[in-house]
Amino acid sequence: MVKEIQLRVSLKEEEISNILVVKSAIKLAINQDDISGVKVLRKSIDARKPKIIFNYKVAVFINEPVPESSEYTFNYSDVSNAKPVHIIGFGPAGMYAALRCIELGFKPIVLERGKNVQDRRRDLRAINQYHDVNENSNYCFGEGGAGTYSDGKLYTRSLKRGDVRRIFENLVYHGATDQILVDAHPHIGTNKLPKVVQNIRETILNYGGEIHFNTRVTDFIIKSNTINALVLNDAEEISVEKVILATGHSARDIFYLLHKKHIAIEAKSFAMGVRIEHPQHIIDSIQYHCSGDRHELLPAASYSLVQQVNGRGVYSFCMCPGGFIVPAATANGEVVVNGMSPSKRNNLYANSGIVVEIDVNNDLPKYEQFGALKGLEYQKNLEKLAFTSGGRSQVAPAQRLTDFVDGKLSNTLNESSYQPGLNSAPLHSLLPKLIGSRLRKGFAAFGEKMKGYYTQEANIVGVESRTSSPVSIPRTDTLEHPEITNLFPCGEGAGYAGGIISAAMDGERCAEAACETL
Ligand code: FAD
Repeated sequence: MVKEIQLRVSLKEEEISNILVVKSAIKLAINQDDISGVKVLRKSIDARKPKIIFNYKVAVFINEPVPESSEYTFNYSDVSNAKPVHIIGFGPAGMYAALRCIELGFKPIVLERGKNVQDRRRDLRAINQYHDVNENSNYCFGEGGAGTYSDGKLYTRSLKRGDVRRIFENLVYHGATDQILVDAHPHIGTNKLPKVVQNIRETILNYGGEIHFNTRVTDFIIKSNTINALVLNDAEEISVEKVILATGHSARDIFYLLHKKHIAIEAKSFAMGVRIEHPQHIIDSIQYHCSGDRHELLPAASYSLVQQVNGRGVYSFCMCPGGFIVPAATANGEVVVNGMSPSKRNNLYANSGIVVEIDVNNDLPKYEQFGALKGLEYQKNLEKLAFTSGGRSQVAPAQRLTDFVDGKLSNTLNESSYQPGLNSAPLHSLLPKLIGSRLRKGFAAFGEKMKGYYTQEANIVGVESRTSSPVSIPRTDTLEHPEITNLFPCGEGAGYAGGIISAAMDGERCAEAACETL
């Protein structure tokens, strides 16, 4: 017999190795010897009160073996000679589109401007050490897309739970820890993601798909509302039947190209702000109500904050406990920050984007001339401003949190995890009022919600600008572009995803739609 029950385990009890068996036996009023195994289905931590509780949902196997089951199986078979689907971009959306094509019996041909994960690493070093941004290989571009050297938080607000589980199981199939199947806030970590991405590449190649790195799509040849061919690296031309466009939110050249060709795109609301960095122990002490180091069984603490300020949401975004701030620019002449953390989340700092909603219809009157690209141009200008105020390199402009709110330049900055370095700058006056004044009020409110958060030991670093795409590419119910029948806009860049999991799910959906029409 199998019984599913909920268990509450205190921090002290968590130290006991067989605590789940002990507690299950007590709860079910049975003998411990009758329990053949306890499988954790869900685990979360409740740290709202000083007495920290681990909440478990478990399946208790009573006098029967624990099966090694997986809800989903992945039926990959050889597609070398099958009809092709061309996929532009090999981020989470492109990767999962390719895998789904194989499951459906079609051959994915992936075109990716960046390099494979190993070669890409060298370009990341060049950004951090020499401030040199390769426009095709950086924290956003290359194998695995922005998802590879990311934080690997897999939390999604998507309501399609079934699909979410399927993606999680596929990540485990490709080498991610199976802990992601049970954790309430699953996380892989930047040190583990490249191997998962590499395994996905190997599955695609082993089953007859193709992946072409260093291959940037530079033009579409369109005849009678259909893409007939793609131009690669401004040189070669290849004919295509179905095209999944999964180039992410940083592929500005693709947005410019679509705009130039009068293919419908739309301005989309997005969010921008700064990244804040605290010593991790401050966040731990607030969240876990402790004065010294956190208990060894507790992970680096995270937070999620939101405040309405003058009619706009100010909120934390992509919080990375025990992590690093990274330079996520995709071109020289701009500074963009983002965050990531290793699987153990054991770095000394906690960072998070703190961003303000930008309503493209009302907030950017001076940018109307740019039409659908108005949000993108605004984003670009702020990234340029960060570049010049940082010192015209990947050094980022920064300020102590309290100085930012008080409106004064910082004489000194706190130590930071951001490798290219920080330069003290008056972000309070540099940022547009729309963002700066809301952030200042937002931070003051956050300090009320989390006592100790508002501290001079925190830096704010500019700018956090790539939270989501400032452009969307329309599509119909069949997921095709309304004007170009064989084009399937996909993933975050097209405005249909906001993170690794939702991008992967959208990739699967677009593959299903494209294959259905072949
Ligand atoms: P992308 O991942 O952006 O992939 C697009 C791909 O297209 C890229 O590989 C690019 O090189 C390629 N491409 C672009 N233009 C062309 C072209 N013209 N020709 C050929 N190829 C092209 N999300 C989370 O859910 N959790 C996190 O913890 C998290 N942390 C992040 C940390 C960092 C540092 C960054 C940068 C992002 C993070 N994200 C996180 C966001 C997440 O990575 C993205 O939401 C996700 O990768 C979007 O997937 P995508 O496939 O739609 O696009």
